[in-house]
Amino acid sequence: MLGLRRAWRPPSKCCRPVRNNGSVTDGTTGSDTLRLMAVHAHPDDESSKGAATMARYVDEGVDVLVVTCTGGERGSILNPALQHRADIEANIAEIREAEMRRAREILGVHQEWLGFVDSGLPEGDPLPPLPEGCFALQPVEVAAERLVAQIRTFRPHVVTTYDENGGYPHPDHIMCHNISMAAFDAAADPDAYPDAGDPWQPLKLYYDVGWSRDRMMALHGAMVERGLESPYEEVMQRWSESEEKRREPKITTRVPCGKWFERRDAALIAHATQVDPDGWFFKVPLDIQRDAWPTEDFELVGSLVETSIPEDDLFAGVREKALA
Ligand SMILES: [Zn+2]
Repeated sequence: MLGLRRAWRPPSKCCRPVRNNGSVTDGTTGSDTLRLMAVHAHPDDESSKGAATMARYVDEGVDVLVVTCTGGERGSILNPALQHRADIEANIAEIREAEMRRAREILGVHQEWLGFVDSGLPEGDPLPPLPEGCFALQPVEVAAERLVAQIRTFRPHVVTTYDENGGYPHPDHIMCHNISMAAFDAAADPDAYPDAGDPWQPLKLYYDVGWSRDRMMALHGAMVERGLESPYEEVMQRWSESEEKRREPKITTRVPCGKWFERRDAALIAHATQVDPDGWFFKVPLDIQRDAWPTEDFELVGSLVETSIPEDDLFAGVREKALA
């Protein structure tokens, strides 16, 4: 029993690639469109991590697919205006689905669900066990098959996911990392998951670097310099405390996307149950953000094309080959 929220079927949106006698097709074999796949744990993660980058690429004609591993059924309601509402709590799965539909329209991306059940963020000391059947308890090699099927159907040139810490230590984020790493390799292996479509080799794999210390310091400094109250005092304190436990991400790629910050924020606000519209995320005026840190940042962790670091484009080294 996989604990599925809904029956899962192989993805059907795109045309399946033509059978190719088991040989691996990769992103260097001529294409008229660049394709980017962003793998996320919950609905709302796509709008807080790399959303402006996705909106920019959509506007530039790139096909962008967000893959959402879980339905977010165990997410806390973080918008004070919507808390303690029995009607929302009773229908949270449907509500989050509707929020996701709105967010993907705003960003202009395609989106697919993998259909796993949210594991929830365990709290307490000792931590309680994870709920039976949840995403984080699935065997990686079993759960990865659904992502392999998505990769083989959509055939992305570039894939983004989280680092080994999940960006923050939610078990679903770590599981999202685990299946992404497994699927990136397995999608190209003709012997792996033969029922999940014809092999496809994405060309680059990135980790989202949502918040780096440098970015937080830059935004904090910009607010203080202008005599404004910085929302990052407390966050920076917590950051220092947790710092020793994790690796500081290595930014290899900064994608300029300041013009798309409004779209990013609108998409995030569409996840109305999950964000406080007056929360710290929205406290820094966008012109200050565009001044102090006008990019979203990524760490390149796998590449089958040549590129030179630092980059400012997820498709650096890919464009020439993919569109040849
Ligand atoms: Zn999440």
